[in-house]
Amino acid sequence: MDNQTSNFIKDIMIKDLESGKHDKIVTRFPPEPNGYLHIGHAKSIILNFGLADDFNGLTNLRFDDTNPLKEDIEYVNSIKEDVKWLGFEWDDLLFASNYFEEMYNRAVLLIKKGLAYVDDLSADEIREYRGTLTEPGKESPYRDRSIEENLDLFERMRAGEFSNGEKVLRAKINMASPNINLRDPVIYRISHATHHNTGDKWCIYPMYAFAHPLEDAIEGVTHSICTIEFEDQRPLYNWVVEQCEMENTPQQIEFGRLNLTNTVMSKRKLKQLVDEGFVDGWDDPRMPTISGMRRRGFTPESIRAFVRETAVTKNNATVDVEMLEHFVREDLKLKAPRTMGIINPLKVVITNYPEGQIELLDAEINPENPDMGMRKIPFSREIYIEQDDFMENPPAKYFRLFPGNEVRLKHAYFIKCEEIVKDADGKVVELRCTYDPETKSGTGFTGRKVKGTIHWVEAAHAVPAEFRLYEPLILDETEEEEGTTFLDKVNPNSLEVHQGYVEPNMKESQPHDKFQFFRHGYFNVDPKDTSYGEKLVFNQIVSLKSSFKL
Ligand code: ATP
Ligand code: MG
Repeated sequence: MDNQTSNFIKDIMIKDLESGKHDKIVTRFPPEPNGYLHIGHAKSIILNFGLADDFNGLTNLRFDDTNPLKEDIEYVNSIKEDVKWLGFEWDDLLFASNYFEEMYNRAVLLIKKGLAYVDDLSADEIREYRGTLTEPGKESPYRDRSIEENLDLFERMRAGEFSNGEKVLRAKINMASPNINLRDPVIYRISHATHHNTGDKWCIYPMYAFAHPLEDAIEGVTHSICTIEFEDQRPLYNWVVEQCEMENTPQQIEFGRLNLTNTVMSKRKLKQLVDEGFVDGWDDPRMPTISGMRRRGFTPESIRAFVRETAVTKNNATVDVEMLEHFVREDLKLKAPRTMGIINPLKVVITNYPEGQIELLDAEINPENPDMGMRKIPFSREIYIEQDDFMENPPAKYFRLFPGNEVRLKHAYFIKCEEIVKDADGKVVELRCTYDPETKSGTGFTGRKVKGTIHWVEAAHAVPAEFRLYEPLILDETEEEEGTTFLDKVNPNSLEVHQGYVEPNMKESQPHDKFQFFRHGYFNVDPKDTSYGEKLVFNQIVSLKSSFKL
């Protein structure tokens, strides 16, 4: 696997190995299974797996499943699939919920040390008592319960004697701390809910800030890489590891989140797009999820190359989505066969071409990669061209077809537009052209030149195809104005569907086969909606050109 370029996290690891603090690097990728992974997660995956790999270390895939209400086995399975598809293999597959017993015991230890107490304040009261950045918090009237009483109440919380929200367990730290995270954070809550892994065994669940450091310490994680919003929680992370008397001391290291232009990147928002029907599932090709990008046609190689190019810094950064597209073009340039497809067909009859004759023309599969060999393209009296390669009354400098003008058909002959056929509404439905047999491609014809080359598909053997063209799902990612939400920025034109044709040699295409269509860009055979042997469905991955320069 391609190596991780140097960055400040890698430098910390090198130092820790050199000083003997650790003799093996252990990292983890810790998703909460409450949604599908997105391209932002790819950054975390590549950092965790890539860095450990650079030092022959270990990386676990650990599901941070401490919130039964939002989590589901469907998400667990999709996350496993996506990590593998991105090209990574975990050492251990772990669930935070497998440590519930140990976490409970550590909480009991805190109570015994006088460092945790059961609080009866409501969630609202706790918030009120917490204070603000400028004012210290207020101590709860239950803060000084005896150790015995706390042990008893905590055990009864576990036994299910109380309802949701009736009691919580809080760490006893400092209500006046300038760091609000240290003002007696809640570490256990009651939730009578069925958990995807532990079923109904538990009705109390540890909070993230308590659970996460314990998970890392239990697994012997050496470097716990997380995003920058957890920076203020680092003192609490260290407090939990120390006061719970964990044997291993993981180090939390924060880095900036990856954001993309015209993209929402939070599972909560992505779930809303799915639930409210703005897209057709988590794997809709317009989604920035790994599964959506896979269905759209992005390759793991292109995603990895893109993410590696984004800097690892302490700041959240927004990267132009065109940079991502640049990497998929680079990856597919030599891999994808070139072909012709007609997105908006217009029938052309070549009146001087013999009826019933079929000719097989030769074309390279990929002129930039001659090793891919040659293909045969049928040509006959009837073909399809693109509607917008013809204009009845063209403006100046229009070099494609118009009455009396001659163009080259890619890989074939020059044709000249002689006659237009219109329907009752005046719409052009057919062109009648003549061809010049002297002008066949590859024969070295130099008699005269034409300025336009257009693509085409032979009509009798053409394979029906649906083309799905995409625009960004989100119009822009600036802050929402008052009274609006990100849903108001969903692009109503993000999907355009066209019915057309492709070359017959594509008939046997398989799910996820990728092609470069002449002039239209890169497309992927949709794995879900294609009816093989009947109609192919193509998702546009990217157009051919971008303004982005690396
Ligand atoms: P979201 O807000 O999208 O739900 P999350 O941070 O809650 O994301 P987790 O399942 O907790 O999602 O994420 C697993 C790991 O991926 C965490 O370590 C998290 O910091 C990291 N991660 C999530 N989003 C990004 C991002 N945009 N850039 C980099 N890392 C990310
Ligand atoms: Mg989360």
